[in-house]
This record gives sequence, structure tokens and C-alpha cells, in this order.
Amino acid sequence: MTKMIKCAFCSGTGMDPFELLSPVSHCLVCDGTGQVEVKEPLKKCVFCSGSGKNPLGSRVTCIVCGGKGMNHCECNTKCLQCKGTGKSSDRLPCTRCGGKGCIC
Ligand SMILES: [Zn+2]
Ligand SMILES: [Zn+2]
Ligand SMILES: [Zn+2]
Repeated sequence: MTKMIKCAFCSGTGMDPFELLSPVSHCLVCDGTGQVEVKEPLKKCVFCSGSGKNPLGSRVTCIVCGGKGMNHCECNTKCLQCKGTGKSSDRLPCTRCGGKGCIC
């Protein structure tokens, strides 16, 4: 089942939050619509804390959720390697769960 949610990367504005490409560029995640389609059930992206932005600081989308701020998760099984944080010791996404924090 799919659902439309507010785009986390641009906070639903449809504009590129970093205005990287040009001042009028639209959000690459939602294509300027302010909404993104996600697959239910959903779990907040633990890697970016739902912000959709790469927590490593570069002005790009979160590499785990792709900027949506949400990940598809059908289980509630915490990844044991990262203890559900989605991060590995080098701050990159956990190699076991891919940064989602759960194992589906
Ligand atoms: Zn957007
Ligand atoms: Zn994310
Ligand atoms: Zn993990």
C-alpha cells in the first residue's frame, strides 16, 4: 500500500532547500510537488531523524531514505549491529540494515 506524505527534504515547499542548482530550482526528492509517495508500513528514518537530509553535513539527501524522511519497514526487529540507530561506528549507514535500523 502506498501513501502520500509531506516531503521531508523540502518540508513540503517543493523548493530545493539548499538552492544548489539555481535559485528557482525545485526539490529533487518530490519533483516540486511537496509530496512523496511512500510504501506503508512506515518507520521514521533513524539515520537522518526524519529530516531527509544527509546527517553527515553535505547538502544532499539522506542516503538511506532518499530524502523522504521515512523508510518502509514491516518488522519491529531492531538491527542488533547498530542497535536500531542505523549508524555504524564510522557514522556511515550500518552495513547490516543499510541504515534503516531494522531488519526486514
Ligand atoms: Zn521535496
Ligand atoms: Zn533518512
Ligand atoms: Zn543496523
